[in-house]
Amino acid sequence: MPAWMPPGSGVDKENGGRVAGLDVERIRTDFPILDREVHGKPLVYFDTAASAQRPLAVIEAIDDFYRRYNANIHRGVHTLSQEATDAYEAARAKVAGFLNADSAGEVVFTRGTTEAINLVAQSFLRPTIGPGDEILITHMEHHANIVPWQMLCEQTGAELRVAPINERGELELSALKAMLSERVKLIGIVHVSNALGTINPVAEVCSAARAFGIPVLVDGAQATPHQAVDVQALGCAFYCFSGHKMYGPTGIGGLWARRETLQAMPPYQGGGEMISVVSFEGTTYNDPPGRFEAGTPHIAGAIGLGAAVDYLRSLGMDRVAAAEAELLAYATRAMSEIDGLRIVGTAAHKAGVISFVLDDIHPNDIGTLIDHYGIAIRTGHHCAMPAVKYFGLPATARVSFGIYNKPAEVDQLVDALRRIKDMFA
Ligand code: PLP
Repeated sequence: MPAWMPPGSGVDKENGGRVAGLDVERIRTDFPILDREVHGKPLVYFDTAASAQRPLAVIEAIDDFYRRYNANIHRGVHTLSQEATDAYEAARAKVAGFLNADSAGEVVFTRGTTEAINLVAQSFLRPTIGPGDEILITHMEHHANIVPWQMLCEQTGAELRVAPINERGELELSALKAMLSERVKLIGIVHVSNALGTINPVAEVCSAARAFGIPVLVDGAQATPHQAVDVQALGCAFYCFSGHKMYGPTGIGGLWARRETLQAMPPYQGGGEMISVVSFEGTTYNDPPGRFEAGTPHIAGAIGLGAAVDYLRSLGMDRVAAAEAELLAYATRAMSEIDGLRIVGTAAHKAGVISFVLDDIHPNDIGTLIDHYGIAIRTGHHCAMPAVKYFGLPATARVSFGIYNKPAEVDQLVDALRRIKDMFA
């Protein structure tokens, strides 16, 4: 057994599907989609890192909004508008509590992680950065935490630098530290890698950055669904997340930053809601977070996200993380026993993501064939081309876990992979 492999799992398959204290069988009843079949087989959903499934609580919260109090928010004096505004702002407060933010005003709703990062690039950094300045990211970033910085470098003449990773898919922390200087104006780092599963030592990066006064932006898209996140304890300047990765709707997510940070930032987009007074001679802007929420927002999405946060909190994020660690250990062992299967990303600290290749079978073929067993996995570069390329691969197959996955599904996966392997033998 390789040294990096997690210790034996506490998965108890005979005990009603409990995984590390999480009652997975009960949780599954909250997800109506898990009742469906794909190609005549019960759906096994192993693509949560791309987008999670939604529990009834989220579906019903959205349904309730559209049925009972659908209206535009803020400034409406009628009852429906006030109820919608209250629910939208209550969702903001829930998200703030979930991240341990100081106040609801520190949470800006965006379309998701991608928009949150672009907002920081264009509003926070663009006005102050220029030739000779550097933006530092890591080799395992999602394209959402690469391309906005490349665009910003093109716009300003700043330079994008990349901290290396090692063959296990871990950040080379000492190399990153050695790249820190007064020239670095921001570090962008993924909390949990969607391609490799690596959990990065974000608090340590933030503390090293602080010595140089460098703000750190954390891409938390894959972390918020899987572990408790405390933005204050992390010590970052910005934390970005996506609702659809954390069992909420698509098209909603957010940015957390301290109030003083947001207050000092100019608007990102112009339009309604982000203003205070508009005249043809000039316009004054709203306070954050409204300043960064131009136009009618995704009201139903925010309300659904609030419901997702309530749902996750009711399970307990520590229990969610523990259950995922158990399932990861179980699946890692079971998959490693398949001859010719190579796991890509073997960091000591990993979340529930297993990227792999099997013999020389193209990952897309694996993905297509395994779909016929009712099993949904993802194949390709996972929007992290440089990370996948680092391992000398154009693509991998990727299994990712959610709170509804159980050991028996891992057994089905392993069985299907063995059959696919035999097809190519
Ligand atoms: N960052 C990571 C690590 C991701 O996994 C993703 C989505 O896959 C994103 C950023 C982008 O998220 P979104 O498409 O929701 O903006």
